[in-house]
Amino acid sequence: MTVTPSAPDTGDYRALLRAIPKVDEVMAWLAGGTEVNGLVGEDVPPRLLKNVVRQMLEEYRQRILAQKPLQIQELQREQLLPRLRQRLSARLRPNFRPLINATGVVVHTNLGRSLLPETATANLAAVASRYSNLEYDLTTGKRGSRYSLVEDLLVELTGAEAALVVNNNAAAVLLVLQTLAAGREVIVSRGQLVEIGGSFRIPEVMARSGARLVEVGATNRTHLRDYEQAIGDETALLLKVHTSNYRISGFTSEVAAGDLVKLAGQHRLPVMEDLGSGSLLDFSRYGLVKEPTVQEVLADGVDVVTFSGDKLLGGPQAGLILGSREIVEEVKKNPLNRALRIDKFTLAALESVLRLYFDDEQARRQIPTLRMLTASYEENRRRAQRLRRRLKDLPEGCCKLELAEVNSRVGGGALPEMSLPSCALALTPLTMSLNRLEQSLRTGATPVIGRIEDDRLLFDMRTVDDGELGELAAALQQALAGG
Ligand SMILES: *Cc1c(COP(=O)(O)O)cnc(C)c1O
Repeated sequence: MTVTPSAPDTGDYRALLRAIPKVDEVMAWLAGGTEVNGLVGEDVPPRLLKNVVRQMLEEYRQRILAQKPLQIQELQREQLLPRLRQRLSARLRPNFRPLINATGVVVHTNLGRSLLPETATANLAAVASRYSNLEYDLTTGKRGSRYSLVEDLLVELTGAEAALVVNNNAAAVLLVLQTLAAGREVIVSRGQLVEIGGSFRIPEVMARSGARLVEVGATNRTHLRDYEQAIGDETALLLKVHTSNYRISGFTSEVAAGDLVKLAGQHRLPVMEDLGSGSLLDFSRYGLVKEPTVQEVLADGVDVVTFSGDKLLGGPQAGLILGSREIVEEVKKNPLNRALRIDKFTLAALESVLRLYFDDEQARRQIPTLRMLTASYEENRRRAQRLRRRLKDLPEGCCKLELAEVNSRVGGGALPEMSLPSCALALTPLTMSLNRLEQSLRTGATPVIGRIEDDRLLFDMRTVDDGELGELAAALQQALAGG
């Protein structure tokens, strides 16, 4: 029996509504639990089970009321229970879970930005489940500061006089501006009024900090004299923003940090630089584009530098504030600092990541972000070949597989101009649409996110780990079989 939209008031329609089982009835079918528990492989909490049953029955009711076609058999035990099981297993999966990033975008803001090295996840797990000296000084037996756990490391690694870490770089910028310039003026070049994805805009953060923005220069060119002319009694700070996510090219000029520092010195003003994707490693040594390192910016005499922990540093989400002792001490005393402070998990991960930087090569090999950014085309090609070998038993005629030369991106608003030659496995499905395959991979138990280019689904091997190849192959097999 099917109800069609043209016959909403028939007895069939009412019969369908009456045929929806009661929640308790379905619960009784499930009594003993074997029907669902067997399938999902664990005990289902009764409250969750009841909620899922209720939601599902309500959806049937809405479907009938909306006059959508429905077979009465769908409301009967034999058809209803398997659907319920499907739903339950989806509900029992964590909402937040790992996935395979085959987009080739290394610092992918939507997919978790940076991955932690093993030493960091081990340290994280250790302090997460045990008590720790988070705010306890083990030498004096007195109350300690959480910041001291990473401050010395940061000072040693960068040459800064002092350091502080907060929740993210947006918080770092807000906190420093609020501390040094609330109610006063901050001079910034027009070419550096950037917006970072997710609504972080320099002018807006500045407004929230209580500082007044004074724009100088033109979009493409700003000169030292522009800053000089804008300096007045109300000036608190000269701010330089690293335009990490875009480039102005052509007829351009920017004032070098060193020149800005000299000018500021003559007026006894501090210089701040928001480095965004601050790096401790010189990427140009690995054939990548030259970006100023944190050490270089500090050596130029910039008084305070801020950057993200989870962009090119390759650590946890955090905002690092490095600079002169005087400024960092002032920032530490700002009551806002407490609202922006990092938690113990971040600290544990950050400390481990920082320790790897005492040896550049060790950092490059062990920190996933750095390893992926510096991986060669050849390395990625070998991985693509391994994936293709794992897929040799796919049903004949289901798809076309080929290796493709592609360009991966750094992501995270870092090194925008740089494209990294990489190798992808390119798949053209022959028995289903590309969109259907993409969706099926995205919604599987371990979601796989690739990218569509030229009517093919690409799996860029730059961001796939060797240890993920088995899972990736299985997900592909399953998704292709679903067609
Ligand atoms: C990314 C970025 C930020 C924001 O950093 P989060 O750590 O994401 O808060 C601020 N400024 C610049 C220049 C950036 O590139």
